[in-house]
Amino acid sequence: MRHVIIGAGIAGVTAAVTIKKYDKDAEVVLIGDERFFPYKRYLLTDFMNNSVKDENIFYTSEEFFAEHGIRFRKGERVKQISSQRKAIKFHHNEVLSYDKLLIATGGRPTLGPSLQPFQRYIQSYYTLQDVLLLKERLQTADVCIVSGEGLSTLDLIRGLRSLGKKVIYIVKEAEVNFPLIKTEFKEGIHEFLANKGVEIIVNDKIVAIEEKEAQFHVHTLNKLTIAADVVFAWEKYQPNLNCTRGCNIEKKEGILVDQRLRTSVEDIYAAGDCVEIYHPGIKDYWINFGWPNATQQGEVAGKNMLGMSVEYEIKETIPFNLFGKPLKARWWE
Ligand SMILES: Cc1cc2nc3c(=O)[nH]c(=O)nc-3n(C[C@H](O)[C@H](O)[C@H](O)COP(=O)(O)OP(=O)(O)OC[C@H]3O[C@@H](n4cnc5c(N)ncnc54)[C@H](O)[C@@H]3O)c2cc1C
Repeated sequence: MRHVIIGAGIAGVTAAVTIKKYDKDAEVVLIGDERFFPYKRYLLTDFMNNSVKDENIFYTSEEFFAEHGIRFRKGERVKQISSQRKAIKFHHNEVLSYDKLLIATGGRPTLGPSLQPFQRYIQSYYTLQDVLLLKERLQTADVCIVSGEGLSTLDLIRGLRSLGKKVIYIVKEAEVNFPLIKTEFKEGIHEFLANKGVEIIVNDKIVAIEEKEAQFHVHTLNKLTIAADVVFAWEKYQPNLNCTRGCNIEKKEGILVDQRLRTSVEDIYAAGDCVEIYHPGIKDYWINFGWPNATQQGEVAGKNMLGMSVEYEIKETIPFNLFGKPLKARWWE
């Protein structure tokens, strides 16, 4: 039986390991388009500010895949899925058939239409490759503009401040607009960040960016012009669904799955940040972001691909640490 897994993040790796744990004879092919062995994405900020060394960011290696009997295809991208032929197609047009398929392609921060024309001036911040390039840039950069919401934005701000960078945070609303259920903060999060030396501009947004005198000049809706060495901006976190185009898998924002992580197409499963799953509390579908969710979903998907019957238990919160203080975010309300 051949199990093919698209996406070598924690969801894909966990599924691959789970399948081999319960069926040593299964053929498992794991495909990842990044050029590195899978690493701990949640440590990227600590890697950026040098508190985590290169070797500690990786939790896999060539030996890891050899020991587990997983065929890892590194730096290869899947462009198409044909559910009728039960096969996938790589970017280089090779076709590989599957008995069971898992889509674990994750997601990433994306720009809305208003910022897309300025994409070349904006530093992306999701992959190890992004952070390696950023580390070079930060050697000579002092002023950073950050615009965006969510936990990884707060994480980035923490990392930049710990490197002594001046951080200007441009945010659309006066208060954080993602649901937090528990924090140790006495004050609001913006006030807390201001006390950590972050300059915060609220009720505003970036409308244009130009390159001038070796810096970037950022123009805002409220007619401010701010010069910076690095600009980070994103509007939305979106599942990576390119390889599902042309395939009849049902989707909303993400791939729709049931509690056993089955998609609408037989023998195709999905797990991690690319899926939308029914939440009985809100009686609707929702994307459950986060490392623990993706890990658990990878395990559940792997077991179900082997014919077991295991249900994913929805986790309500994602634990997070900001400048040493814990907070828990809730992804639905
Ligand atoms: C800076 C930062 C800090 C974070 N901190 C935390 C934290 O403190 N706590 C927490 O719970 N979560 C945190 N997260 C989020 C967490 O890392 C993600 O939720 C988790 O990595 C999702 O795992 P995944 O396997 O679903 O997807 P991903 O990790 O995104 O992996 C999917 C992989 O699939 C690849 N891929 C996509 N399409 C294709 C294709 N067509 N062919 C081949 N490969 C493809 C992608 O390049 C990627 O490598 C953080 C994220 C970031 C960026």
